[in-house]
Amino acid sequence: MHICFATSEAVPFAKTGGLADVCGALPREIAALGHAVSLVMPAYRGIFHRGEVIQSTGIELQIPVGGKVVTAEVLTSHLPDSDAVVYFIRQDDYFDRDGVYGEHGVDYEDNCERFVFFSRAVLQLIQQVPLDVDLLHIHDWTTGLIPAYLKIEAAACDRLSRIASLLTVHNLAYQGTFWHWDMLLTGIDWKYFNWQQMEFHGDLNLLKTGLVFTDAINTVSPSYAEEIQSAPLGCGLEAVLRDRRSVLSGIINGVDYTTWDPAEDRYLATPYSAENYGEGKRICKRALQREFGLQLAPDRPLIGFVGRLASQKGFDLTFPVMQAWAERQDVQWVILGTGDKTLEKQLQQLAEENPGRIGVVIDFSEPLAHRIEAGADLFLMPSEYEPCGLNQLYSLKYGTLPVVHETGGLADTVVGASEETLAAGTATGFSFDAYDRAELAKTLEQALALYADRPDLWKQMIEAAMQQDWSWRKSATRYLALYEQTIARHNATVLTT
Ligand code: ADP
Repeated sequence: MHICFATSEAVPFAKTGGLADVCGALPREIAALGHAVSLVMPAYRGIFHRGEVIQSTGIELQIPVGGKVVTAEVLTSHLPDSDAVVYFIRQDDYFDRDGVYGEHGVDYEDNCERFVFFSRAVLQLIQQVPLDVDLLHIHDWTTGLIPAYLKIEAAACDRLSRIASLLTVHNLAYQGTFWHWDMLLTGIDWKYFNWQQMEFHGDLNLLKTGLVFTDAINTVSPSYAEEIQSAPLGCGLEAVLRDRRSVLSGIINGVDYTTWDPAEDRYLATPYSAENYGEGKRICKRALQREFGLQLAPDRPLIGFVGRLASQKGFDLTFPVMQAWAERQDVQWVILGTGDKTLEKQLQQLAEENPGRIGVVIDFSEPLAHRIEAGADLFLMPSEYEPCGLNQLYSLKYGTLPVVHETGGLADTVVGASEETLAAGTATGFSFDAYDRAELAKTLEQALALYADRPDLWKQMIEAAMQQDWSWRKSATRYLALYEQTIARHNATVLTT
C-alpha cells in the first residue's frame, strides 16, 4: 500500500498539539511495517530551523484559489530515521509566518484561503510527482476539503479517482468555520453549500465537509468516537456523525516509548523499571519534592498534574478541591501548566499561601513533565472531555496511578479501582463517571485511603499499570487494518458507480 498523510502539523517540523505527534510517529510505524509512505505539509518558516535536510524537487505547482492562480514550490525531506518521504508545499505569502494557525491567540484572517490552497496543492502534487497513492490519510479541518475535491472534481482523473480517504478527527471542537463567501475560494459549485454537505448554520464548515465526503472517519479513541455522536461532545455535528456511524471508528494514539520510559529517562534523578520501581520512585519523589520546595515527606501522597490550564482539563473541579483541601497535612500537590491567565494567578496564589504542600510552576517544561510523571504517586486528569490524552498513558508507564474522569481516551485506557477490578488484579487507576467536583473529591479520597491502608493493593496496581503496552506499533497495526478496509470499500463503490 501507499499511504499519503496530508497534515497541517508533524513532529519534528511543526507542532501546536497532539496532531503533530501522531503525524510524526504513525507514518514512521507504517513505513517500518513495509508500506510506502509520504507526508505532505506546508513549508512554514519554522521547518527550516529543525536541523533536518530539506531539498528542492524542482517541481512547481499552479493552484487555482478563488479567481487567481497561486504558484507553489515543492520541497522534500524525510521523517527522522525513516523511509517516509515528506513533501513541503512552499508558498511564502501563506506560510512564511511565525505561527501555524495564528499569532498571540488570534487566528490568521486568511486561514480559509491558506488551507483551500494547501488542500488543492496536495492533490496537484500527487498528480505531478506522480505518486501512486492508495489512501490519503487526512487530519482535522485543515484538510477537510480534500475528500470533497476527490469526489467532486476527480471523476475526470484516473489517478485521483482510485484514492480512498480516511479523515482522523483529533478534536471535534475545532471545525474550521468561515463565512459563506469563502465558498468562492474553494472553487466548488454553490449547489454543495447546503445543510447536508458543506454548510453549517449559514457558514462554510471545512470539518463537516470532510466528514460528509470522506470514505471513512476515525477519532483517537473508541469512546470519543461514540461520545461525539450526541450532544454536547458532537459540537453540533452529532447528526452528521450519526449518519456516518457505519464508517466511524476509534483508535487510541500510541506513546513514543523511546522518550517516555522511566528506565531510559535522562531527565530523572534515577532511572527505574518495573523490577526496581520502589527504590526508583522514592528517589524521584524526594527530588521532585525538593524541586517544588515541598516538605521531604516520603510517605505523604503526592498528586501531580501536567497540561494545558484550559477548561477542558477539568480545573473547575480540581481547583475547588485543592482550595478545600489546602489545609490538609496528609497530601501534597505539584502542578505544571500554562494557559488561562486567571487560573495561573489563582494557582500561584494558592501555592504561595500553602508553602511546603502545594507547588505550582507556570511554564512549558518537558524535563519537569517527566519528573512529575516519575515522582508523583497519583496523576490527575479529570478532563471534561478527552479525545485520547497522552499524560495518563505516560503515567501508567511510570507507575504513577492516574485519577481520571471516565471520558474518551481516559475511559479506554485506565481501569478504575473497584472491588471487582482489584480482586481481578486489573485496576490501573481511579476513575469517576459524573463530571462533578464531589465525585472527584470522593475518588481522590478512595485513592488516598488505598495508599495509606493497602500497600499490597497499591503495589499490585502499580505493577499492572507499568505492564501496559500503549506503543505506536499496536495502534499502527490497527490503522493498517482500517486502511485496507477503507481501500476495499472505496474500490467497491468505484466499481459500482
Ligand atoms: P492535549 O493535546 O489536549 O493538550 P494530551 O494529554 O493529549 O493533551 O497531550 C499533551 C501533551 O503536552 C503531553 O505530552 C503533555 O505532557 C504536554 N504538555 C502539556 N502542557 C505541558 C507543560 N506545561 N509542560 C510540559 N509538557 C506539557
